[in-house]
Amino acid sequence: MIYYCNSCSIITNQLIHANPATNFTGSFNQRYTQESKFLKHTIPGYDIKNRLKVVSLFYNDSYSSYHNNIINTALSGSIEINNSGQKNVIWITNAPIGYAEKNGITIEQNHEAFKLVLHHDINSIHGFSTGSLGLFYKKCSRCSRPAF
Ligand SMILES: [Zn+2]
Repeated sequence: MIYYCNSCSIITNQLIHANPATNFTGSFNQRYTQESKFLKHTIPGYDIKNRLKVVSLFYNDSYSSYHNNIINTALSGSIEINNSGQKNVIWITNAPIGYAEKNGITIEQNHEAFKLVLHHDINSIHGFSTGSLGLFYKKCSRCSRPAF
């Protein structure tokens, strides 16, 4: 994993701001609908086929909360480049926004980060909560300061 702090994410033109007028549940692309991603992360047990996989769920199931988290993350987040080369954006929320469950059993509580995936593609962009503890040790690969 490679990380860039918010400043370096902006300076290197990697962080793309999201237009607040966008409906982030509005597109139907080939792989999934953005609405199905939103419902998966707000309604426990929604994704019945994948109930044995870990899924993160938001404490607040409103669309406005989801929308605000996407806007804030695309403004204030830090870039993560994963081992497949995919660029994600992660923003520390500093307040619990979600948890993780598997087959109906909570396995992680109090996620304090929002992770935005495919943020360069307005028809695929979506996000979910994630744990933040491991992120505080990550350094920016450009300026060497804490990435978060
Ligand atoms: Zn930096």
